[in-house]
Amino acid sequence: MTLGELLQRARSRRVAPTGTLQGRCLICQRLTDCGIPPRKTVSANFTAWSQFLGGNCFCPICVELLSDDIYRKKSWVVSLKDGFKTFPNDEALAHLLDPPTPPFFLHIAKRGHKQTWLAALYKINYSRDSYFFTYEPIDTPILFDRTRAGLMIDTMKILLEAKIPKREIRAGITEPSAVKKLMSLNGWEDIYKRLQIWRYDPLWEVIVDVTRA
Ligand SMILES: [Zn+2]
Repeated sequence: MTLGELLQRARSRRVAPTGTLQGRCLICQRLTDCGIPPRKTVSANFTAWSQFLGGNCFCPICVELLSDDIYRKKSWVVSLKDGFKTFPNDEALAHLLDPPTPPFFLHIAKRGHKQTWLAALYKINYSRDSYFFTYEPIDTPILFDRTRAGLMIDTMKILLEAKIPKREIRAGITEPSAVKKLMSLNGWEDIYKRLQIWRYDPLWEVIVDVTRA
């Protein structure tokens, strides 16, 4: 199953718009007799052309990925069993920790500009403990691992409780005032070491963003 198919089936939108163009789908590369021309699907200011592969049209399944502005503007979660729903970013952490019944997929929007879920065509998830999701600022799908995420969230809560600003946490804690707050914590050396490794980890970037004090 692809992400387009999961969205169509979960939203009962199987009567997808179909076209008459013969050719290859720009997203899944499959040949189709009922392709939809790109100019009928994406607007003139569409910015995600680099996400596409060689082809000349969208197939009736992949066109779903571009058929609704809500996929770009809102954070959402989709599951074959539990359906499709959008959520405010204040609830993003709760959704990451408690995703719906597999198969499912989850996307977190920020500014609502980039279609980063297009990079996750085949990243449908069958495990609630180790799964891929997309986060608008990062162009590639991110692996959520429950154990690693748990340690990151616990660390994040300790740092927020110590009143260390998120921008400092993201930077690995370098400002003297933030270093002082860090050094007042039990086991701060271990926390500091973890931060230097996590700085380059996309999952950490998400956890820093979605964890609230
Ligand atoms: Zn396709």
